[in-house]
Amino acid sequence: MSLTFTGQLDLDHMGTHVPHGFTLPEGVGTLRLNFTHDPAHPGSGDIPHQLSISVYGPDGARGTRHNNADQSPVISTHHASPGYLPGPIEAGNWRVEIDVHRILPPGRVTYSIEVAWDADELPVPETPRAKFGERKRGPGWYKGDLHGHTLHSDGRLTVEDYLDYALERGFDFVALTDHNTTSALPELMTRAGEAITIIPGEELTTYNGHALVLGTTDWVDWTVRDGQTMGARARGVAAVGKVFVIAHPKSEGHPFCTGCRWAFADLLPGVARHVEVWNGPWTSCPQNPGGVALFYQWLNQGYRMVATCGTDTHRRATEGQRFGFNVIRAEDNTRPALLDGLRAGESYVTSGPLLSAWANASGDNATFGGCLPEGEVTVTCLLGEGDLPDGLNLSLIHCGTVVASASCIAGMELTETFTARSGEWVTWEIRDSAGHIHTLTNAIRFGGEDVWR
Ligand SMILES: [Zn+2]
Ligand SMILES: [Zn+2]
Repeated sequence: MSLTFTGQLDLDHMGTHVPHGFTLPEGVGTLRLNFTHDPAHPGSGDIPHQLSISVYGPDGARGTRHNNADQSPVISTHHASPGYLPGPIEAGNWRVEIDVHRILPPGRVTYSIEVAWDADELPVPETPRAKFGERKRGPGWYKGDLHGHTLHSDGRLTVEDYLDYALERGFDFVALTDHNTTSALPELMTRAGEAITIIPGEELTTYNGHALVLGTTDWVDWTVRDGQTMGARARGVAAVGKVFVIAHPKSEGHPFCTGCRWAFADLLPGVARHVEVWNGPWTSCPQNPGGVALFYQWLNQGYRMVATCGTDTHRRATEGQRFGFNVIRAEDNTRPALLDGLRAGESYVTSGPLLSAWANASGDNATFGGCLPEGEVTVTCLLGEGDLPDGLNLSLIHCGTVVASASCIAGMELTETFTARSGEWVTWEIRDSAGHIHTLTNAIRFGGEDVWR
């Protein structure tokens, strides 16, 4: 059985979801869809229209493959195309929606969606084999990546390549945050075995900004419609133990990267407490200094913000790109313990240099993410013993201003004593002579937790 929907999209469809409903009978084993549109390209410049489909069954979302040329998914009981969830093809009302992420002048795009179904089920795929190896465990500092994509959305890497790439980089943990889908997570977690901790996630890739939901294996609705707010979504995911991270907030917006710049007025930062200040390679992503400035601005406004970093891997790095990773203190190298460390902000971001830092006031100590009462305080940063690139500078930042600085030497200490007032904070930065960040810590705050939002 089959049917076809056709229609036209115009400029005012941008930022909407165009639904088409259909009803499936009992006994369907496989559903096939094929979405095409014409023209694919508006005909000027390098930027194409960006249209994809999402499929919803009677029991919920069945997937999407964001920003991928292949918009012809097959969904069956035990097998589905990348981006889509296998499972019973229930009888009842289904919906396919065109997600109109970007449509450029002059609009007037015609489309067709063919929907076909039959009783046959696709064969059960082979269960992937787990990697050999045992990751480091116990209380300690763990390094890894919190943002990346596979070919289940618009990445080039298979799930296996994605895992291999994380292991090659020596990570203790890696998150997977495909755009608007969680379909790659079962395979990734099976393949990872005990070799590396997987933080399952999804990148909510909306029309007004991107956010990572870390710690979820369940699909989180990325659409914001019918009176819903992103703030309520953020509150909801945090309430069930997941971490909501505003991703690349100062990214370039439309038309170069439509939807990428953060524009949710109720989350500036609202209930959000995590912000990705370093996305992709530092120097080729000009939004990163703006992300750091926003993090400092929100700390100065009294928000207990936590900075994170994400490679936003879509393919392997090329020569000369300098990415950051997260270093998180956790009670164990497990998903819940790492998420606890991240929630507390006991973490920093770096492209290599390792450090520790603490503040001491009348015998009380605090490190990244921690808080001490106001009063006289001594803050110390201790640089690790590893090799460092030449020409790096370590600075103490007090409420956004550099107050002490020294050339980096492995094993060095930078110590300052001052009177901290309520609402003040410190971080440490390592920058090179061009001013590019190599390391940025989370804040130690002063005045007691109750003065912070
Ligand atoms: Zn993004
Ligand atoms: Zn991303």
